[in-house]
Amino acid sequence: MTPGEMEMVEVFTSEGKGRGLKAVKEFWAGDVIFAEPAYAAVVFDSLTHLVCHTCFKRQEKLHRCGQCKFAHYCDRTCQKDAWLNHKHECSAIKAHGKAPNENIRLAARIMWRIEREGGGLTEGCLVSIDDLQNHVENFGEEEKKELRADVESFLNFWPPQSQQFGMQYISHIFGVINCNGFTLSDQRGLQAVGVGVFPNLCLVNHDCWPNCTVIFNNGNHEAVRSMFHTQMRIELRALGKISPGEELTVSYVDFLNVSEERRKQLQKQYYFDCTCEHCQKGIKDDLMLAVKEGENKVVKLCRECLKKQEPVLGDTNIYLLKILSIASEVLSYLQMFEEASGYAKRMVDGYMKIYHPNNAQLGMAVMRAGVTHWHASLIESGHGMICKAYAILLVTHGPTHPITKDLEVMRVQSEMELRMFQQNEFMYYKMREAALKNQKIQVMAEPTNEAPSGLFHTKQ
Ligand SMILES: [Zn+2]
Ligand SMILES: [Zn+2]
Ligand SMILES: [Zn+2]
Repeated sequence: MTPGEMEMVEVFTSEGKGRGLKAVKEFWAGDVIFAEPAYAAVVFDSLTHLVCHTCFKRQEKLHRCGQCKFAHYCDRTCQKDAWLNHKHECSAIKAHGKAPNENIRLAARIMWRIEREGGGLTEGCLVSIDDLQNHVENFGEEEKKELRADVESFLNFWPPQSQQFGMQYISHIFGVINCNGFTLSDQRGLQAVGVGVFPNLCLVNHDCWPNCTVIFNNGNHEAVRSMFHTQMRIELRALGKISPGEELTVSYVDFLNVSEERRKQLQKQYYFDCTCEHCQKGIKDDLMLAVKEGENKVVKLCRECLKKQEPVLGDTNIYLLKILSIASEVLSYLQMFEEASGYAKRMVDGYMKIYHPNNAQLGMAVMRAGVTHWHASLIESGHGMICKAYAILLVTHGPTHPITKDLEVMRVQSEMELRMFQQNEFMYYKMREAALKNQKIQVMAEPTNEAPSGLFHTKQ
C-alpha cells in the first residue's frame, strides 16, 4: 500500500469521544490499515548530528548541510528529499545564528507547509491542521507559561519575509504539537529520536485494549531500483480481526499500569477520561496488583530489593514486573547475562498474562529477553522467545520493518545453533566462542530511567 491512501477508513462521530475513524472493510491481524507520511517532523535537539533529518535513522557517518551546518543526512537521496521542508529553515537558522529548540522547529516546519499549501485539507489527509484539537483551553498555569515562552521564541525565529500568522493561530499550532506530536524512533526501535505530526493518526481514538497498533517505519531507499524505495511513515496495523463499521483504536499509554493510573495519565496528558471496557471494569487490575499476602506492604516493598519482594508479590504484579524489567536490562548491559535471563524470563511470563497477545511492547520485551537468554547460552529458551517475538512483530511491525528483519536473522541463527546444540554440545560451545568474537546479535540499548511516556510525545 502506498502512504496516503485512506480508502479503507471513514471519519465518523464516535459516541462520547467526538471524531473517530472506522473500518469500511474487514481486516485481519497484521494488515496495514493505512500508512501516513509525516505532515512535518524534526529530530530532537540532543541528536541533531547523530540522526538523519529525513528518515530518522541513526547512522555512523552523516553528511552535514553545507549552508546551515545544522541539518544532517544519510546521503544525497535523503538530503534531496529534505530540501522542500528544509529550504526556509536553512536560511532562517543562518539568519538567526543558531537553531531554536525542537518545538519551535516543528512549529516553523508546519507553518512553512501551511504557507505553501494553505491550512485546509492537503492530499491524503482526512483532517486539516486547522481542524486538529489543541486543548489550549485545558492548559494549567505552568503549561500556559510554557506556551507563551514558545510563542515568543517562535516569533524571534520566524523570518519577516515569510507569511505572518496571528498569536492565536501560533498558539493553536503549539497546542496541536503538544497533544498530537508523535514520537519517532530510530530504525532499531531502541531510542526516541524525534517528533512528528500525522493528522490522520490524530483521528484514531484511544482504547486501553485497542484493535490496532501504530508503528513507525523509517523507510528505505537502499534498493537499486527506485520503484522499491519507501519513505518514512507511520503504519496503523490491525491486531486481530476487525469488522466493517468497527471503530479503529490505538492505546495512547502503556497497558502495564492499573486502570486508575492509566486514566490519570490520559487525563493529564490527553485531557479525557477513559471509559473503555478495561477501565470501567478494571479488567486485569487484579493480575497487575496480585499479592501473595498483606496488600498494604506492596508499595513499601517495591522500593526495596527484589529478593525481599519475592514472598509477597504475585507473578503478574506490575510493580514486580517493572523491577524485573529494570533488573534484567541493567544486568544485560553489564553483561551479567545469566542473572539477567532469570529476571527476563519471569518478566516475560508475567507480561504474557497481561498484555494483548499481539502487543508491540510485549513483542519487543520478548525479543530482548530472547537475546539475553542467547547471551546466557540458554539456547533452547532463547530460540523459543525469539520465535515468539518474531510472530508478534510480523503483526505489529510487518515483515519488512528493520526490527523484524533483524529478528529473522536472529531466528535463523539461533535455530542453527539449537540444532547444533542438540547434535553436539561440545561443538556448539566451540562455535559460540567464535560467534561471540564476531557478534551479530546486538539489540541492547543502554538502560534509561526515563519514565514510560505515552504514544504521543509531550515536552518534558
Ligand atoms: Zn536518511
Ligand atoms: Zn541547511
Ligand atoms: Zn481505558
